[in-house]
Amino acid sequence: MQELIILRLDYQTHKEEARNIITARVEFFAQQYGVTYGRIAIRDQRTRWGSCSNKKNLNFNFRVAFLPDEFRDYIIVHEICHLKELNHSKRFWELVSQFFPHYTSIHKQLRNYKLIP
Ligand SMILES: [Zn+2]
Repeated sequence: MQELIILRLDYQTHKEEARNIITARVEFFAQQYGVTYGRIAIRDQRTRWGSCSNKKNLNFNFRVAFLPDEFRDYIIVHEICHLKELNHSKRFWELVSQFFPHYTSIHKQLRNYKLIP
């Protein structure tokens, strides 16, 4: 049993920094995967790290920017792979594996983070 990690961050004071960090990583990984995307939305959410719409818009919890680099990049890669595969099929996870072959472990560790305001 791992300890619970609480990210207590104020949205208003962190959203611009979050947008800068997340946008830079999205640009990097989108180029790596050869995909294009629509808009990037940075939000204060309680239950989700990120999502990808069928219009290729990406949505991220602002707290993603302040996670350890590996977790931050995993979430960004996860959503970028949804630009190619809008599902969690075998092909989707193969794409994620290109950068995160140990995605199962990262996925589990992320559950230790509690999203509170
Ligand atoms: Zn997903």
